[in-house]
Amino acid sequence: MAAARALAVGLVLTGFGNLALAALYAHAHVWPLALWLATGAWICPVAAGYLHRAAARRRADAVDAEQRARRLAIEDALVMDDCCETWWTSAGGQHEPTCPNHARSN
Ligand SMILES: [Zn+2]
Repeated sequence: MAAARALAVGLVLTGFGNLALAALYAHAHVWPLALWLATGAWICPVAAGYLHRAAARRRADAVDAEQRARRLAIEDALVMDDCCETWWTSAGGQHEPTCPNHARSN
């Protein structure tokens, strides 16, 4: 999120730079360059907003996925309360072949 924020700030500053140069070229009556830079001045903040919203969406999705995984892990721990020793020592990843939950997880 910090990298996306830094990129967004950089894009906004670039947009201001483009705007200043567009004004300079417009003052010198170099219209093609002034229009080109004015377009860049408009695109930069729009891209910064898009980048910021996309980063916020990705962060929200990651938080949701993490919370869902925690809920599932807690539910698994409750369901497999009386599981085998291997399950407890492998952080819920493996079962002993004689465990009743062995077939369920494989
Ligand atoms: Zn087990």
